[in-house]
Amino acid sequence: MTDHHVYALPLRTRFRGVTVREGVLLRGAAGWGEFCPFADYSDAECVPWLAAALEASEHGWPAPVRDRVEVNTTVPVVPPDRARAMVAASGCRTAKVKVADPRSSLRDDCERVAAVRDALGPSGAVRVDANAAWDVDTAVTAIAELDRAAGGLEYVEQPCPSVADLAAVRRKVDVRIAADESIRRAEDPLRVAVAGAADVAVLKVAPLGGVRRALAVAEAAGLPCVVSSAVESSVGLAAGLALAGALPSLDFACGLGTISLLSGDVTTGSLSAVDGYLPVPPRAPEPDLAADVAAGPDTAARWLGRLARVRSLAGGPPGH
Ligand SMILES: [Mg+2]
Repeated sequence: MTDHHVYALPLRTRFRGVTVREGVLLRGAAGWGEFCPFADYSDAECVPWLAAALEASEHGWPAPVRDRVEVNTTVPVVPPDRARAMVAASGCRTAKVKVADPRSSLRDDCERVAAVRDALGPSGAVRVDANAAWDVDTAVTAIAELDRAAGGLEYVEQPCPSVADLAAVRRKVDVRIAADESIRRAEDPLRVAVAGAADVAVLKVAPLGGVRRALAVAEAAGLPCVVSSAVESSVGLAAGLALAGALPSLDFACGLGTISLLSGDVTTGSLSAVDGYLPVPPRAPEPDLAADVAAGPDTAARWLGRLARVRSLAGGPPGH
């Protein structure tokens, strides 16, 4: 019986400069887990990703307090008509619109945001994600205009790179600020909260070291949380749903509707949203090892080598 499986899944569109999502699925006593840190992460940065994979495969997750999780659709930098059509087709009531991209002016961003509001109607929620692209003054101006174009924004995700600048923007605008890139390690949400830098924390299971660790982080930070994926297969996505399912309160739609960014999946039971919701699964879905997602031998060897190095760094048994 195999206890690991290296996969490679092409992305539908380039993301973080990569075109293929790769990782290792691990089988343990509790089921399957996924280890898929991005290629530019050091072995040390991969240690929490391994902890999250081992939590899923060896221990499973805490009991959920809800059985489904609302998810948002994500609108990339596309013309307004395309944005309107994407949102209408998604079935979601919340849309996250990418803004502040070098290929898009503020005017383009406002037109895209207005089209998204048009598609969602007045009861929908529009949030924007600037991916740390603005300085404080630019953020303050842009947020005011985007808020107007959207007929009210739910929140602005990571307007500026630094925690100090997030706090400065937050003091100057009425729109909620969400921290995403500022939260990559378990200590970060607390730092963001203490600095008064955000109203919402975006949590990702793998960089925080697992569902239990992320729950503890959420409690310590005391901020409303949104759970997002790292664009995993459905095996890793299940861990994000377990976190979203177990958080004591969940006030916003989560960024877990990401399986559609991949051109395939490791399992036939894909976690794709229906009418804007995903079920909270009791464990990760079983991968279909016969499916044509296996990585080639060079890729597989690279991942098993990485896994062994991270295992030894984490103090676990030498890599098998
Ligand atoms: Mg973000």
